[in-house]
Amino acid sequence: MQTLKAVLRQVRDRSARPIGDHTCSLASNNATRTLHDMRRLVHRPRRLRRSAALRNLVRETHLTIHDFVLPLFVSEKLDERRPVASMPGVFQLPMKAVADEARRAQDVGLEAVLLFGIPEHKDEEASGAYAENGVIQEALRAIKSKCPELVAITDVCLCEYMSHGHCGVTRIDGEHFHVLNDESVELLVKTALSHAASGADIVAPSDMMDGRIGAIRGALDARGFDQTGIMSYAAKFASVFYGPFREAAESPPQFGDRRSYQMDFANGNEALREVALDIEEGADILMIKPALPYLDILWRVRERFGKPTAVYHVSGEYAMVKAAADKGLLDEHTAVIEIMTALKRAGADIIVTYWACELAKWLRE
Ligand SMILES: [Zn+2]
Repeated sequence: MQTLKAVLRQVRDRSARPIGDHTCSLASNNATRTLHDMRRLVHRPRRLRRSAALRNLVRETHLTIHDFVLPLFVSEKLDERRPVASMPGVFQLPMKAVADEARRAQDVGLEAVLLFGIPEHKDEEASGAYAENGVIQEALRAIKSKCPELVAITDVCLCEYMSHGHCGVTRIDGEHFHVLNDESVELLVKTALSHAASGADIVAPSDMMDGRIGAIRGALDARGFDQTGIMSYAAKFASVFYGPFREAAESPPQFGDRRSYQMDFANGNEALREVALDIEEGADILMIKPALPYLDILWRVRERFGKPTAVYHVSGEYAMVKAAADKGLLDEHTAVIEIMTALKRAGADIIVTYWACELAKWLRE
């Protein structure tokens, strides 16, 4: 066996030789020796990458239409579909169009939609969120009358209905504002109950108040809605990637930010504690939001708890790919398939995405 010193000396000598025939023959000798060494390789992972058929045989992660949930924005203020400027291809829908849109989603093979409402009026009690004839309540009835089999999931939050745009009841003390937890939970419970009564299959609290899952589960059970599921936004991070959504849902906070209730994006262990609490309180499905920058959280949650796990590929993530594709920097279709496969590989059972309809079509081709 050569000493390290001897090897280093050989390398130094070789690199000092002038370029010429001698060097070439030396290089070819080396190449032969390398080939000879390589022939002794037992494991050659590239064997299974030689053709599309072989790659298909050993592929570990397969996307299906059933993986995807389509978000829908329903507005009481509109008569016509309105494009969301920051999210090309996404529209706010008037009430009269929502059932048809849901039917279109079902016709391409999707099983579920996630509803967000934009009310005509906002106030300090978010009364539109739990009004008998509120935007979500009406949309649910319209969808359920047209496509009863489609799973209707509703966003349960107060921000779209609050004049100040925060996800809970606020109190302002001079320069400071507080989002009051228990007072907010009361309104979230009323909202979830009213969605269940209007036909929601699953309610999805996205507010990040403490204890809301337990309170909602208890109230649903007490009113006979024990079959209404809860998809908890269990680990929702305060993220810059929500920017375009706030235009779509018309819910930007009028003051302050959401960091006193949404999670610090630097924290992973805290996300596991949040998820554990929501499971204890009765969540059926756990949601991680946003998606791609939080693959580690998704993986840890799915591995640790083994519960149905959803991920929300959010507006900013969508807009980034759209912008890059628009500039010709990457191919949208290929990028979206890679992203969605990565989310599923990292543990997502359910992916909420604005590409749901396109994916359904692409996967069928
Ligand atoms: Zn909110």
